[in-house]
Order: sequence, then C-alpha cells, then structure tokens
Amino acid sequence: MVKNNRGAIFVVSAPSGAGKTSLCQEVTKIIEGVKHSISYTTRSPRQGEANDVDYTFIKEEEFSRMVSEGEFVEWAVVHGNFYGTSMKRLDAIRDEGFDVILDIDTQGAIQLKSRFKDGVYIFILPPSMEVLEDRLRKRMSDSEEEIRRRLKRAREEIKEFDRYDYLIVNDRFDVALKELGAIIISERLRTENMDAVWIREKFSIQEGKNGYNITAGRI
Ligand code: 5GP
Repeated sequence: MVKNNRGAIFVVSAPSGAGKTSLCQEVTKIIEGVKHSISYTTRSPRQGEANDVDYTFIKEEEFSRMVSEGEFVEWAVVHGNFYGTSMKRLDAIRDEGFDVILDIDTQGAIQLKSRFKDGVYIFILPPSMEVLEDRLRKRMSDSEEEIRRRLKRAREEIKEFDRYDYLIVNDRFDVALKELGAIIISERLRTENMDAVWIREKFSIQEGKNGYNITAGRI
C-alpha cells in the first residue's frame, strides 16, 4: 500500500553522550525495513568497535580523495575528526526499499536538509547537561580534555534543536526507543506516502468523486 518503493531518510542528531548511537542501532531491531547507514570516519576505533559495522575507519588521505571525488552526500569535522556519509551507500539501502537512519551531527543534518527536503529530522536531547556530563564520564574512554570539548560542542549542537521536525528526550532508554520507533511508523503511514491508485482500485473509488481526492492526500 505504500506508494514509493524507495526508502525514506531519517536523520538523527544529538550531542555526544545523549544515547543516539544505541537508539539508532536498537530501533533497526524493533522496526522492520529500516537500516542504519555506516559512515566513514578518520577517527580511531574505540574498544569494541568493528570496521564496517560501527564505522568504516579510513585514513585522512582516503577521506580527502573521497571528498574531492564527490563521494559524500555530506561530511563534517567533528571533535577534530572527519565524518562522512557515502552517497553510494545511502542510495543502495534506499534502492533496496529500506528506510535509512543516519546518525550524524548537526552540520551534516543541515547539509542534508537542503538536499533532502522530504527527509525526517529528529533531535535527541539528554535530560540535562548534568546527566550528559555524567554519561560522558562513565564512558571512561574519553580524557578530561575530551569531555570538556564534548560538553562545549553539546551546547552548540543543542542550539540547533528547532531546525528539526521531532525532539526526543532520552531520559529512559526504553521510552526514547519507543518514541523513535513511533516517529518512523507514523511517517510511513502519512496519506501522501500511500499508493492512492492502489487504494482507489481496492475500494472502487473514482478520482474526484464525492469531493474526495486521495491523490492530493487531502479531502
Ligand atoms: P563518535 O565519534 O562519538 O561516534 O561521533 C561523533 C559525532 O559524529 C556524533 O555526533 C555523530 O553523530 C557524528 N557523525 C557520525 N557519523 C557522521 C557522518 O557521517 N557525518 C556527520 N556529519 N557526522 C557524523
């Protein structure tokens, strides 16, 4: 019944430590038909991270080559490292009919917004700056200087919240996960995303009759 076989784009941003990565990974397990896009980065893998699973880890020279050959649909420098989304990867997921979820920073989301106007933009907030700091400290993988840098950057990112379509406060993970899932499902059920031809045929409705016009998604 869904009109377009091409997957939709869900862009998720949040300050580091807001729980965005876990939310984006877990939502692909509870909602069918959505895949997480794996970004390229020049940062080193953290403990437990695997190449081509969490990120594709590459050297700066390779990243520069990809930039100059136009391989990224968006890219940005975050915390001193380069991150980018490959156009080829994005297209491949969408062409298979999967929705795609992009876990990217606000600079990348702003670049995508001018290109994909029908994308869905979601921002995850931590419950407070104190909770965010606490979460960053518990990660232990980051030094004090790195934590300070991430908190400063968090404030800059939160400033951009009103550019997004949806806001989720990640206080309780299970609630935030349900909310993210609900956004994906609701967007899929929008009238304009439905196949009006299929509905008319199924229910023997003629276009424009009785004042209804399902093509336009409005009565
Ligand atoms: P981390 O290094 O902690 O995994 O990620 C740091 C930041 O980079 C996060 O805000 C994350 O969303 C962002 N990020 C990850 N991949 C991409 C990407 O492909 N493009 C952009 N612009 N940001 C990304």
